[in-house]
Amino acid sequence: MGCVAHLTRALTALENPVAKKKSSSTSAAPVATAPPPQGGAMALPEFLSLLSRKVPSANLSKALAMLKAERFELFAQAEGDYIVGVVKSQTNPDLVYACKLTSSGAYSCCTQNLFRCGGLQGGLCKHLLVLVVGLTKAGKLDGARVDGWVAASRMHRPLLDKDAMTAIFLRYKGAEAGEIDWRPTETIPEDYYAL
Ligand SMILES: [Zn+2]
Repeated sequence: MGCVAHLTRALTALENPVAKKKSSSTSAAPVATAPPPQGGAMALPEFLSLLSRKVPSANLSKALAMLKAERFELFAQAEGDYIVGVVKSQTNPDLVYACKLTSSGAYSCCTQNLFRCGGLQGGLCKHLLVLVVGLTKAGKLDGARVDGWVAASRMHRPLLDKDAMTAIFLRYKGAEAGEIDWRPTETIPEDYYAL
């Protein structure tokens, strides 16, 4: 009997460190396995707070309302010194807008008929902001860097760069037709409910 008790104690002693180790590694796991910070590591509320000082507040509100209303598939390309992308109209399903913002703050937005977007008075329109906010939330854009671009945009009037816009629409049509591999970034309304 004494022998069994001794053995049980010995086994318990053996098991305990394992159990402890397991529980401590489990509790540490969320930290250890959290994804490494990506380009857009800045928290969304912080990013929006920065943007709100640089763009017309009505445009930012409209962009957030759009992101809350439905999912977007943002066909976008983020490069070192510019971003381009396509944002579908929520009011007219036949209408899509191409947007471009450069590191120097130059910006454009127009429809596929190359009509200038009507929302560009006073700064970046809701389409550009959907693009910038959606991509930053998805970690595809560095919030701090693009905030600098948005700050620079205040020194510019909107452009209508027809060649650049046409190139974006051609690529978008190619992607829609499955001829070009251009994967969109999806936005989820729930991500924006709390804002
Ligand atoms: Zn626009």
